[in-house]
Amino acid sequence: MSENSVNYRVLARKYRPQTMSELVGQELLVKTLTQAIDANRLPHAFVLHGIRGVGKTTTARILAKALNCHGADGQGGPTANPCGICSSCISVTEDRHLDVIEMDAASRTGVDDIREVTESARYKAVNGRYKIFIIDEVHMLSKSAFNALLKTLEEPPPHVKFIFATTELKKIPETVLSRCMKFDLARITPTILFDYFKTICAKEQATIEDEALALLVRAADGSARDGLSLLDQAISLSQSQVTTDIVRDMLGVVDRGRMFILLNLLMEGKIAEVIAEVRDLYARGSEPTVLLHDLLDLVYWVTSLKINTSLLTDITWPESDRREGGELANKLSMPILMRAWQVLSKGYEEVARSPLPNQAVEMVLIRLAYLSDLPSAEDLLKLTSGGGAAGGGMSAPRGAASVTSSLPQAMAMPISRPAGLSGVPVTSLLQPMPEIFQDVLKIVAQSREPLLYSNLMQDIHLVSFSTGKIVLRLGDKAPSTLPTQLQNLLHQQTGQKWDIDIVAEGGAATVVEQNRQQMQQLEQSALNHPLIQEMMTQFPGLTAKVERQETIH
Ligand SMILES: [Zn+2]
Repeated sequence: MSENSVNYRVLARKYRPQTMSELVGQELLVKTLTQAIDANRLPHAFVLHGIRGVGKTTTARILAKALNCHGADGQGGPTANPCGICSSCISVTEDRHLDVIEMDAASRTGVDDIREVTESARYKAVNGRYKIFIIDEVHMLSKSAFNALLKTLEEPPPHVKFIFATTELKKIPETVLSRCMKFDLARITPTILFDYFKTICAKEQATIEDEALALLVRAADGSARDGLSLLDQAISLSQSQVTTDIVRDMLGVVDRGRMFILLNLLMEGKIAEVIAEVRDLYARGSEPTVLLHDLLDLVYWVTSLKINTSLLTDITWPESDRREGGELANKLSMPILMRAWQVLSKGYEEVARSPLPNQAVEMVLIRLAYLSDLPSAEDLLKLTSGGGAAGGGMSAPRGAASVTSSLPQAMAMPISRPAGLSGVPVTSLLQPMPEIFQDVLKIVAQSREPLLYSNLMQDIHLVSFSTGKIVLRLGDKAPSTLPTQLQNLLHQQTGQKWDIDIVAEGGAATVVEQNRQQMQQLEQSALNHPLIQEMMTQFPGLTAKVERQETIH
């Protein structure tokens, strides 16, 4: 073992949880285990299942402690909160409890290894309440080993408990599984890991940049142990001043800044610059498929930001990713991102199979840069079929409807005038200049900007509208990026600069509120109709429900 690997094991061991409450990010597991212990419903065998480094062995040891703890006064029974100070607890912590036997099935897979276990299980515990066998990576056991184990599981001696840990539940025979109580350990969320690592840094008196922490959290991928090992490495590399550069170097992650530049050039259709950039990246040792992989990852990231703007303020993602990704998400429409994804995915396969991978990458990127200059097939279809005009009275397009689906159908989209796209040359994708605010909503909906659309419907109060200038008051839930987003989109779609002014007071009710009020008025006037009134008096107890009839185009 190298000196380095000895070093970075230290933190994970030092901060290994010793009680249930110290387990990070496993609330559900802790709750169900606690209930089982408190109710004295203890199975003979437990299976702990989860990804590597998520705390299975740690949980197994805490469980062993819980089962054998006899309390400070020596009188206690099994408890979800082992005291940690009785001789039993201490010897488990120190890894020397005679009745807690650990075995790694990854290295001991055979039937003879399991026979040792089952033989030993026949004898009573030396000084503990239970004899506890912890078998790690249990799915690695051979078929005959499982069969040998099954015999003991079928008629377990009352003093024996098995705790199995596994990353692959499906590889355990059903006959064995059905005799165990199963517990799932959750992948630890980025937010929990972020806070956890921050606490550890404080305890270690190390400072760490948030961006560096975010990179570590992403690399840990839900595993506290992996993350702690990386953190340990980073701290020892940087003499307690952990910077983003150090972590980036350590993880070998490419500076995503270069990828953002490349994607920007691609989307602007600047083919010559794209090629120059790609060749420079080769010169620095980038592999052709890795380059496409990273671009795909970036397109996915930008799309995620478009769908979920709360990511923009999620500090568990590196700040530069959020800033540059956010700018691209504002600039690029959903169809363009989808097309980029398609071209890159297909290109990835081509490059992987190509006898000339470097050239193949360039060809893929040229295709993408070229395509990003063309109108999408969908836009063309709309124009050539006159669908734009016919769709004037339709409710929100599918993209928008999925986000606003919690609203009643009648409110999903205000009735607006036909857009009258016919006559617009095919090469131009410009929308006619909106004359009323409803036209703006329609453009946003058609641009497949579901989030912006739903924000405009629910979170803004229109103060005044004239073509080229909108004055708004933002509601409490409106994102601060809304004005820029709207401005960019209108510029893109109409070819004109728009002023979006934000004021602090005044403004009309939101569109959703207006629709709701309108609906109530309709309902009231329908109920007030003499005919309805007459029926209500003729048939006491009759209730009337007003439904809006949608016109189908
Ligand atoms: Zn104890």
